[in-house]
Amino acid sequence: MEVPNTQENMSKCICNTCPTFIEGDKGFFCSLDRSDKQIVKKGCMCADCAIWAQYELKGGYFCAEGKAD
Ligand code: SF4
Ligand code: SF4
Repeated sequence: MEVPNTQENMSKCICNTCPTFIEGDKGFFCSLDRSDKQIVKKGCMCADCAIWAQYELKGGYFCAEGKAD
């Protein structure tokens, strides 16, 4: 399911607690699309995120794979 780009949704993103997250990156990748940075997968926290449950997302690593659809 697409995740609407709202301030409320963005505020629930937990990407900045994730080992894969690069300091200073935009986060909220399930809505904003993949990172511009070279992502090295070290684990993904998305399945623990309220947005992931609310929008019935599948998988994770939206920073590497692109936004949810
Ligand atoms: S599902 Fe992942 S990318 Fe989307 S808001 Fe949650 S932590 Fe961020
Ligand atoms: S999308 Fe998943 S892997 Fe990427 S930074 Fe967010 S929680 Fe981590």
